[in-house]
Amino acid sequence: MDTYSSNHKLNARLTDLKPSATLAINELSTQLKKQGREVYKLGFGQSPFPVPDVVVDALRDNAHQKDYLPVVGLEELRLQIANSYSGKLGINRTADDVLIGPGSKELIFTLQVALDPHLILPSPSWVSYAPQAQIAGAHTSWINTTAEEGWLLNPVLLDQFCRSDTSSPRLLLINYPNNPTGATFDEQHLTSLAEVCRKHNLIVLSDEIYGETHFEGQHRSLASYYPEGTIISTGLSKWCGAGGWRIGTFIMPPELSYLRQAMAIIASETFTSVSAPIQHATVSAYQGGDQIVRYLSNSRQVLKVIGLFTHQFLTDHDVLTVKPTGGFYVFPDFGKYRVTLLAKGIATSDQLCHQLLEKTGVALLPGSAFGRPEDELTARLSYVDFDGQAALDYAADRAPLSADENTVVALAPQVKLGLEKIVEWLKS
Ligand code: PMP
Repeated sequence: MDTYSSNHKLNARLTDLKPSATLAINELSTQLKKQGREVYKLGFGQSPFPVPDVVVDALRDNAHQKDYLPVVGLEELRLQIANSYSGKLGINRTADDVLIGPGSKELIFTLQVALDPHLILPSPSWVSYAPQAQIAGAHTSWINTTAEEGWLLNPVLLDQFCRSDTSSPRLLLINYPNNPTGATFDEQHLTSLAEVCRKHNLIVLSDEIYGETHFEGQHRSLASYYPEGTIISTGLSKWCGAGGWRIGTFIMPPELSYLRQAMAIIASETFTSVSAPIQHATVSAYQGGDQIVRYLSNSRQVLKVIGLFTHQFLTDHDVLTVKPTGGFYVFPDFGKYRVTLLAKGIATSDQLCHQLLEKTGVALLPGSAFGRPEDELTARLSYVDFDGQAALDYAADRAPLSADENTVVALAPQVKLGLEKIVEWLKS
C-alpha cells in the first residue's frame, strides 16, 4: 500500500483535503463508547424521525421496479415536485425544470463541475460546499457574517463583494434554515438579497433542504423573489427522515435550462439515475395528504420545543446562540468563557470540541469546519439525539406541545443531559 502510494501521485487538487471534522469526532465518540463511556451525540445531523408509513408502504409496493429510469428523473416525480413547488412559492416550474439525483449533495457537486463557477459562500456554511468546490477545481470566496446579525448574509456586503469581483459565472450558495446556525431569512432580507443578486446577475443555489422543518411551517424561498436566477436544492433527507435513501432534487429556472442539460450529461456519465423503487416511493412523499401533514406538524413541534429550550438554556449560561427557526442546529459561541478555556489549554474550536468530548462525552463539531476562524470559540450543536418515533407519538397524544422543561425531559433527555454536562464543564 505504501509502495503504491509513493509511486503514484494523487490529483494535486486533493492533496490538502482532510477527512471531515465529522469523521474525526465520530471516531473519537466510537472509541469512548467502546471504553464504556456515555456519549451525547450532539455532533451528528441526521433526522431522528422515521420515514412516514405511507412513504415506506410506497417503497414496498415498488420494490419490483427494476428498469433504469431517465437520467433527469422519473417524469411523474418531477411533475409532482414542479407542481408542489410552483403552488407553494408562486412560481412557474414544469417537470422539465426538475432534476433528480442521489442526494442533493451529489447534485450540488455536479452543478459545480458543470458550471466551474467562482463560488461565493457566507461564513459559516455547511462543511461540504468548499471541499466540493476544491475537488471540482472551482475558486471559493467567503463573505463574513456575524453573530450580532444572526449569522445571516448581509446584502450590503454581498453587493460590495460583487462590485469588487466581477468574475463570471458567480455562484452564490445560501442555506436556510441554516446548518450550522438554525437561522433563516425573513421576507425583507430575501427581498434585499434578490435585488443584489439581480443587479449582479448571480446564479444562486438556494439550499433549502431544511425548508420543511421550519418550526412554524412558514419557510420562504429566494426563488419567489429572484425566480430567474435561483436554483432550489432539496430532498427527502431532513423533512422525511430518509437520509439513507439518497434522493435529492433541484428545481431550476427555465432560464438556466442549459445548465440543467449540462448536469444531465454529467449524470449520464456518472450516477446514471437514482434507484427506481426510491423514485417511485418519493412521489407519495410529495403528494402530501393527511398523514404527511400530521407528520410534519408533529416533527416541527418537537424540533421547536427542543431547539428553543437548547437556545434558552445556553443563553442563560452565557453561551450565546441565535434563536433557531428551523432545522436541527444551533451554533453556540463560547467566547465569554475564553479565559477559563485558555486555562484548560483551549484556544481553538477544534481543541474545544476534542476536550469537551474527552472530558464530558458531549460531541459537538468545531466552528472551524464551517469556515470560521480557528481561534473563534464556536461549535455546531445538533439537538437531535433523541428517539424520533417516541417523540412523534408523544406529540400526537399531546399536541399542541407546551414549551417547558418537562416536555424536553420527556422528548429528549439525552439532549438536556448533554447541555448540562457542557455547562458544568465550562464552570469547573
Ligand atoms: N445541505 C445541507 C445544509 C445539509 O446539511 C445536507 C446533509 N447534511 C445536505 C445538503 C445534503 O443532503 P442530502 O445529500 O442527503 O440530500
